[in-house]
Amino acid sequence: MTQEKIAVVTGGTRGIGLAITKKLIADGFKVAAIYNGNDAAAQKCEQDTGATAFKLDVTNFDDCQAVCKNIEATMGPISVLVNNAGITKDGMLHKMGKDSWDSVMATNLTSCFNMCRAVVPGMRDRGYGRIVNISSINGQKGQMGQTNYSAAKAGMIGFTKALALENAAKGITVNAICPGYIETEMTAAMPQPVLDGIVKGIPVGRMGKPEEIADYVSFLSAEKNAFTTGATFTVNGGQYMPS
Ligand code: NDP
Repeated sequence: MTQEKIAVVTGGTRGIGLAITKKLIADGFKVAAIYNGNDAAAQKCEQDTGATAFKLDVTNFDDCQAVCKNIEATMGPISVLVNNAGITKDGMLHKMGKDSWDSVMATNLTSCFNMCRAVVPGMRDRGYGRIVNISSINGQKGQMGQTNYSAAKAGMIGFTKALALENAAKGITVNAICPGYIETEMTAAMPQPVLDGIVKGIPVGRMGKPEEIADYVSFLSAEKNAFTTGATFTVNGGQYMPS
């Protein structure tokens, strides 16, 4: 049976998420793009792509339930969920405030539980779903100044595998993508000398483009790709090659 093509992309209005929104719309999906506070970017995303933006703090369990219900009522049953929303709050552990730990864990990792808890029951009932979690190279290899972010992103990989096992027999695939350094506002906020140093360590000699991550999401969101689940895709220009 051909599935309804309704996708939810958290953080879908800017950066990598915006590229994912555009790509899924090109693939024929209606996209609900979740954002947190940047109304101007959300409006622009709606105008430029035809997506519908929903303002939602993905760290809030009850709000995730309510917004997903609203999306299903207004757009249709959710068949694809991309957990892409993320933040960094860097600092060495011996100086890190608990708020930096808590907010990075909540936005990157607890959000995956909140959103999946809202959509997985419906996907199980319908016997179909595609979930893609955007982790990070720094969840695979660790990064100085990012105990919070590395822990959250590594947690997403374990979460992906466990959820894949729980739902494999229900027609739901769950996969993770670990981007390396990608040109977005998140990386533009880093000091230029740091960025220069990072590019020197990338064998292909450049940072990645958001579209290069969106292409993987497109593949993993396709109905025909039913045999790939619990997998972690490394997309980093050769910067780190886990065995
Ligand atoms: P950006 O900072 O460019 O965009 C982040 C998006 O997430 C925005 O749409 C933002 O909404 C949304 N968001 C943030 N917090 C919340 C929240 N609490 N509730 C709902 N939405 C929220 O990030 P990138 O595009 O660079 O990164 C996207 C993902 O990819 C992240 O998970 C990141 O960790 C990961 N990643 C990025 C890499 C990179 O090099 N850029 C490398 C590896 C992984 P708003 O616009 O309202 O603020």
